[in-house]
Amino acid sequence: MRLLLSNDDGYRAPGLAALAEALRPLGEIIIVAPERNRSGASNSLTLDRPLRASQVAENHYAVDGTPADCVYLAMTTLLKQPPDLVLSGINAGENLGDDVLYSGTVAAAMEACLLGTPAIALSLASADPSHYARAGVIARDLVLNVQRLGLQLHWLLNVNVPPNSDASLKGARVTRLGRRQRAAETIMQLDPRGQPVYWIGPAGKPGEHSGPGTDFHAIAEGCVSITPLQMDLSSYPVMDDLVQWLGI
Ligand code: MN
Repeated sequence: MRLLLSNDDGYRAPGLAALAEALRPLGEIIIVAPERNRSGASNSLTLDRPLRASQVAENHYAVDGTPADCVYLAMTTLLKQPPDLVLSGINAGENLGDDVLYSGTVAAAMEACLLGTPAIALSLASADPSHYARAGVIARDLVLNVQRLGLQLHWLLNVNVPPNSDASLKGARVTRLGRRQRAAETIMQLDPRGQPVYWIGPAGKPGEHSGPGTDFHAIAEGCVSITPLQMDLSSYPVMDDLVQWLGI
């Protein structure tokens, strides 16, 4: 099995190393990841300058671009043969509900999907790096299932692992995305010259649409959350309303 790994925390991130270590027994591992932390980069591609890919070890590249750049470059140029599966992560921190719209971790997986390869995004819902090894075992279980059952083309799974879970898929739930409350206020500070600078505030807490069946709820219950994602953001009910409203 040929596995392409990427992330948004950068090519030296401990979550990526844990993922590679857990998956190494399953086949060939190729890592193509951003040269620095690009969390929150979403699906952006670098179009205003060329990209550089530096080989830092055998089958391990650092790219001065976004997570989506990395997967695009890997799958169109760097890899001699296409991967069977793309994995992104293990992210430092959860990617639940609205987070998937901003996440570079999910975007790397989504880019693979857009290029026709199934992909899994993995995030650790904890800041404690001691849990990466356990999340890596869960990733390996998932990949073994994929190998056994075959993952459909264009499948994109968003997996979040709570810090208190078993190192198995037994406690996993298939979930839908929940919703967060509105994000915290923007933080304004003054730079050393007295000019204002602004920090985007932390993500909002789980909102009212984060009950049973959602990814937030599974994590709160100590279960691994597996959400299948699709890229079609069309609002089908509004299409009908809009046709009536416009009289067309
Ligand atoms: Mn990240």
